[in-house]
Amino acid sequence: MTTANLVLLPGDGIGPEVVAEAQKVLERVAKRFGHTFTFSTHLIGGAAIDATGGSLPRTTVDACQASDAVLLGAVGGPKWDDPRAKVRPEQGLLAIRQTLGLYANLRPVRVHPALMAASPIKEDRIAGVDILFVRELTGGLYFGEPRLREKVGDHTRAVDTLVYTDVEIRRVIRMALKLAAGRRKLLTSVDKANVLESSRLWREVAVQVAAEDPSVRLEHQLVDSCAMRLVTAPKSFDVVVTENMFGDILTDEAAVITGSLGLLPSASLGDGTRGLYEPIHGSAPDIAGKGIANPLGTIMSAAMLLRHSLDLEVEARAVELAVDEAVSNGARTADLGGDKSLSTSEMGAAVLARLG
Ligand code: NAD
Repeated sequence: MTTANLVLLPGDGIGPEVVAEAQKVLERVAKRFGHTFTFSTHLIGGAAIDATGGSLPRTTVDACQASDAVLLGAVGGPKWDDPRAKVRPEQGLLAIRQTLGLYANLRPVRVHPALMAASPIKEDRIAGVDILFVRELTGGLYFGEPRLREKVGDHTRAVDTLVYTDVEIRRVIRMALKLAAGRRKLLTSVDKANVLESSRLWREVAVQVAAEDPSVRLEHQLVDSCAMRLVTAPKSFDVVVTENMFGDILTDEAAVITGSLGLLPSASLGDGTRGLYEPIHGSAPDIAGKGIANPLGTIMSAAMLLRHSLDLEVEARAVELAVDEAVSNGARTADLGGDKSLSTSEMGAAVLARLG
């Protein structure tokens, strides 16, 4: 029997709607398998800015640090979109990942057989796609210094810095290697080693780390050709590991080939077991408050939470199976198409019904 202290960060837009359904699923798992999960809900993003002036209140940080795992909805929306604003919702998300030491973002990309028609890619290319992306989260261009804008004569010059240390590269490749060992044993390391020095270091470290487990085959792929291979031969990937910005772009591309943004989960992990779990979609302000958002990405994120933070593999699979069965039996929210669409809570109920 497992006892766990779980923090919920519903955030903005559809965040609270989808997190509510995932909480019900976790409560049902606790009941069915005899675990005790306690939940506390805290502010992040735009909701936190409105209530406190900051996007990540101290109480939220303290609660997350004292928790076993964190489940997040989404942050952001037009109300807080002013690019000149000093405080922005996504700062809260970046800060909580950094504070919790989460350096690897895992995004599984699978194509559900019943939803293949929703993909922009031909069915014979995507049937059976099962990729796990591992994106480095704390280094690279998004965090490097110097970062500045300056006047040079009559012109304006802007600088971002792409910087990685061997330590940052090693820990994320090692995590990806372990994950590949538990899957089909192929690790694709993506870089731009023909141009970038940071990528040459990335490749060197990947080779060193991969030698720790010869059962996994390591291949290197340049990011530009990887982007092409994702649409031409997505089945040829197993685990893909890459740096922050390449991962940001490639994971969105991979999400689109599944045809269902609302269904995909993610996990941000560090060295310990505590992780932050969230659907890959944003706060969807266009449908917020209408009760029609697809909660399956958040429910699948809850399954990842059970697996990676609580070591409850059987329970994680039970949730994933319940989602698969609901979709196979025709349960569809509006984003998934179909003749009769379910509301957010009806979709949640369809999953709960299959969880027993
Ligand atoms: P989005 O993912 O919120 O929405 C894109 C489209 O997909 C919209 O049409 C939306 O209605 C639809 N959609 C998304 N999730 C859905 C779901 N669960 N069910 C049904 N339909 C769904 O992306 P966006 O419109 O580019 O961004 C909106 C806001 O979200 C912005 O403020 C952005 O900064 C923020 N955002 C936050 C995160 C995050 O919290 N991790 C990620 C991406 C975007």
